[in-house]
Amino acid sequence: MNLPLSTADYPAQVGEDSPADQLIAWCVDYFVDRRVEVTTSFGMEGCALIDMIARTSRPLTVVYMDTMFFFKETYELRDRMIERYPHLQFVNRGTTLTPEQQEAIHGPELWKRDPDLCCKIRKVDPMREVMKDVDVWITGLRRDQSKARANIRVLEWDWQYQVLKFNPLASWSRKQIWEYVQANKVPYNALHEQGYPTVGCTHCTTPVPGSTIGEYSRAGRWVGTEKSECGLHGDGI
Ligand code: SF4
Repeated sequence: MNLPLSTADYPAQVGEDSPADQLIAWCVDYFVDRRVEVTTSFGMEGCALIDMIARTSRPLTVVYMDTMFFFKETYELRDRMIERYPHLQFVNRGTTLTPEQQEAIHGPELWKRDPDLCCKIRKVDPMREVMKDVDVWITGLRRDQSKARANIRVLEWDWQYQVLKFNPLASWSRKQIWEYVQANKVPYNALHEQGYPTVGCTHCTTPVPGSTIGEYSRAGRWVGTEKSECGLHGDGI
């Protein structure tokens, strides 16, 4: 794919600090002939992003990776999102390897012994299959989510999956996301109201004491390990 990778090479409305709705409207229009897909793990950012995309006329596909270790609240949220946005197509492209098959091959509780391998099997490799059919990947990544994400750009090349990555919420704060979700009555994970700033797999996500719903923290992920990212976004992200 031969596309410029810097916002400076695109029309004026595509700036690093341009409003997200403007960026998204531009993206779906500009890449109308390209294969554009959104991915989500049903975090609060992803839900806000999906709501913004649903306001455009393009019936995009929203891909999620069911690791088979989701919380029941996450499945409930998925169902609410499908009901709320009927013109978007929600597609599960998660691994087909069942937890039982994983245990038979790699032994019990791989997430404790080798979480990187577990994430590779259940997230990173399935995403590679998704990205074979994608030109432009829309994500809900934000710069202030972590040190590893601090330098993301609105438009950047994803070296791991070899696609153009579009991050329209890059400059947003969690407070802004929370305000957007409230103002627009966007569905969100019930666990956010029970001390979970982010929600991943059941085995690797814990509540963060003292956290509030409008504050982002990855402190509840892979507690007791050095790991803070699943690897979907390359370079430790
Ligand atoms: S978050 Fe945990 S359980 Fe989920 S894929 Fe990664 S290591 Fe496995």
